[in-house]
Amino acid sequence: MSRQAEQTEALRADVAVVGAGAAGLYAALVAAHEGARVVLVSRSPLAETASYWAQGGIAAALAVYDSPEQHMADTLAAGRGISRPSAVRALCEEAPAIVRDLERLGVRFDADRHGALALGLEGGHSVRRVVHAGGAATGRRITRELSAQVATHERIEVLERATARRLLGSGGRCGGIEVDRVDGSKLHLRAAATVLATGGAAALWARTTNPPGAVGAGLTLAAHAGVTLADLEFVQFHPTALVSEASDGFLITEAVRGEGALLVDDAGERFVDELAPRDQVALAIEHVLRADDGGRVFLDLRQIDMTHFPNIAAELRRAGIDPAREPVPVAPAAHYTMGGIATDVDGRSSLPGLLAVGECACSGLHGANRLASNSLAECFVFGRRAGLSAAGEPQPVAEDDGAEGLDEPPDPRPSHETRASLWALAGIERTAEGLRRLLDDAFPLARQVAASALARTESRGAHQRADHPKAESRFDGLHGVVRGAEPAFEEWR
Ligand SMILES: Cc1cc2nc3c(=O)[nH]c(=O)nc-3n(C[C@H](O)[C@H](O)[C@H](O)COP(=O)(O)OP(=O)(O)OC[C@H]3O[C@@H](n4cnc5c(N)ncnc54)[C@H](O)[C@@H]3O)c2cc1C
Repeated sequence: MSRQAEQTEALRADVAVVGAGAAGLYAALVAAHEGARVVLVSRSPLAETASYWAQGGIAAALAVYDSPEQHMADTLAAGRGISRPSAVRALCEEAPAIVRDLERLGVRFDADRHGALALGLEGGHSVRRVVHAGGAATGRRITRELSAQVATHERIEVLERATARRLLGSGGRCGGIEVDRVDGSKLHLRAAATVLATGGAAALWARTTNPPGAVGAGLTLAAHAGVTLADLEFVQFHPTALVSEASDGFLITEAVRGEGALLVDDAGERFVDELAPRDQVALAIEHVLRADDGGRVFLDLRQIDMTHFPNIAAELRRAGIDPAREPVPVAPAAHYTMGGIATDVDGRSSLPGLLAVGECACSGLHGANRLASNSLAECFVFGRRAGLSAAGEPQPVAEDDGAEGLDEPPDPRPSHETRASLWALAGIERTAEGLRRLLDDAFPLARQVAASALARTESRGAHQRADHPKAESRFDGLHGVVRGAEPAFEEWR
């Protein structure tokens, strides 16, 4: 037996879940509810997940004037002709029941003055349909409640401050993960199903609204094992991240624009419909910022009752800005990655035994652009589906000798230079020239983003090419898939 094998502990579970954001927590609870023994591995404390930071809420067709069909129409419109129809249907039909289930689990959503669920309006939604908790503290409230349930569940074991370093193989399947623990020891967690819920990759871009760990670790692990990724060219830039030395990149939710906040330039003039989809608003702001005389953009919150947004008011105070008196300087920042590990609508990746859910996954739901507040809904709707699929995965037929998967693990951390290059060369507006330069980056995921963005010679949704400024019908319905080096295009139904 090798020295490494002697030092490596082994643990078995039916289902291994990596990540303790909304998607991982919910998938773990669902799998455990089905009777599976679950081990949940999480690298960071709760407050460092994107889920904890989520402000706006969860989109679900709950109002009497709304319907899943109307939610579907809005989602498909935002996705600009390449959302996968079956994924959109699953999300919009199942989100209302998910909100009720979260209430049953103890989440208290904000109510209106008649005691009914208060529904917010956000960009791209044709009606009010976003439930929230504690004003703009939705993510915090939900993750706190779900973590408490996970921590006390008899069939769930939690490994905190533990990092998944690579996938383990087992007869052509994923057989679990290798985990680094905070004390320096290693663990081989063997499982019939492994669910990656490691979050998105928006912090690969230098200016971001995301926590620093959101650098696509799950995508790196999966790609290293030859698993298919998809739609990496689609990165959503949130239009209104605070510009400030103290809190740069702090997101100011578009719910404030839903309540009437205005976007204005240096002259105090409006230049865009504040409730247009995010890609349009971000691009309009980018053009003002890039104007010859070095334009600036402000969010005018003077008419907004900021008591409804206490965490935003507190952050602005910390930054020395009084929103009742002065407009707030804002600029776009990388916010959400629509692409990820390619999955079917039940969370299954191209490698048997490996599932992915939440922002690290790409079911094709968001197409070229995510509709606001569809991502938390996605974490739960597809978290449930992935939890059910994982609990039903077959147990390995043979005892594993642990020999597969022991190649050098990939390094999932990008350098400062990579992050700056992605911002400069694969930002809100790209060109072939810049993207080709990025193909030489040291970080594999940056090269895959560049290759995907180069291959899509059109502008669509969140992918804007200055050298191909229009959507091209030949790309309608096509997802960009990455297997190895060369991207290809596929239709998903
Ligand atoms: C500021 C902000 C506001 C937002 N507001 C909204 C909103 O209002 N509505 C909405 O729908 N969406 C919103 N979003 C997007 C949404 O929050 C995310 O898409 C969603 O929370 C992602 O959840 P997740 O479970 O996939 O990942 P995360 O919540 O990011 O969790 C990832 C988990 O994986 C762990 N992890 C990562 N790599 C490893 C590893 N190698 N080993 C072990 N653990 C690992 C992390 O530690 C973490 O526990 C917002 C995002 C941000 C940043």
